[in-house]
Amino acid sequence: MRSNVSEKTLVDCMDRRSILYLAVGASVLTGCEEQDVKNEGEIRSDTMKRSPNGFTTRPSPVDIESNYPELAPLRRTAVRLHPRKKSDLPVDSSKIGGVFFANDPAEWPFCRTHKTHHIGILQLTKYDVPELGFPDGCDIFQLTFCPFDHDDVYCPDVSGRWLSLSDDHIQQSSNPSFEEPEYKYIPNECAIHPERVEDYPQMDELPEDLQARIGADRSLVGPVEEWLERPDDEWAPETAYSYFLSAADGTKVGGNVNWIQVPQSSRCPKCSGWTEDLLTIASWEWDGGTFHRWKPIEDCPQGVAVSSDGADDHGMMFGDAGAIYVGVCRKCEGFPIARTFQCS
Ligand SMILES: [Zn+2]
Ligand SMILES: [Zn+2]
Repeated sequence: MRSNVSEKTLVDCMDRRSILYLAVGASVLTGCEEQDVKNEGEIRSDTMKRSPNGFTTRPSPVDIESNYPELAPLRRTAVRLHPRKKSDLPVDSSKIGGVFFANDPAEWPFCRTHKTHHIGILQLTKYDVPELGFPDGCDIFQLTFCPFDHDDVYCPDVSGRWLSLSDDHIQQSSNPSFEEPEYKYIPNECAIHPERVEDYPQMDELPEDLQARIGADRSLVGPVEEWLERPDDEWAPETAYSYFLSAADGTKVGGNVNWIQVPQSSRCPKCSGWTEDLLTIASWEWDGGTFHRWKPIEDCPQGVAVSSDGADDHGMMFGDAGAIYVGVCRKCEGFPIARTFQCS
């Protein structure tokens, strides 16, 4: 259990005009009023600090795009969040877990199935991760969940909402604390450290002819083998591509989705159209296969990644090292979200 979450403190009521709520399932929506939004990137208050970077992904060992120019238009920028345990972060900072900003705690999402309030998983500000694509007038995104499994999968029910900070309110409001010992999922409070990396689609998302050519390309294996403790192992080109050269591993915004199973986008809860891939909450930031590439250099004092340790600071294990994939519908008012879940 975390100890840093205070009881029902800091619940100053704020002006609800500036707040927009949306929830998957309930789809509660009160509208996000346009207001005098300052220039993008401007810091609104002393507590609104950009989260630091500080973690560096190892560069790709292969210039895959020069080998396969058709990958160029498929390249995307992923914002790896690199969650690391840190206590007592400001309520309006980008973070995983801990106490979140909430203009009106009475509107905090509630699970009718389990008759419990949600707890905060991920909070991101526009200043740290503008790539989320915030609705006009909003500058904080929050992902919350019911801390129990839902829908017969080992995954909590997730809700998303886009909120506005306003200049005339000091960020002293927070969600009430609802943590109970029986909750299945309780994230450790973590700071996030956004890092932009370029990544490419997984094998399954490539055209078949390209899959076949990459799968037969032994030249991809040599540079990768230099990373491995046992370079004599027979590495298939497809494995090298999947582990090290395609979609970035871990918790991230955007980029190509690192599906654990086959690609499985979600449907908008309002219009039933396909959502746009928004972000991934992964149980692990890397695993026993992918750590050579995706474990940051700063976590590898010897300069090479020799173990997969340290991949789970937020402490949430979804099924067997699963991941929650969150999609957003930008066609519907309020940008509703939906989630899919996969594990090995
Ligand atoms: Zn529930
Ligand atoms: Zn929609």
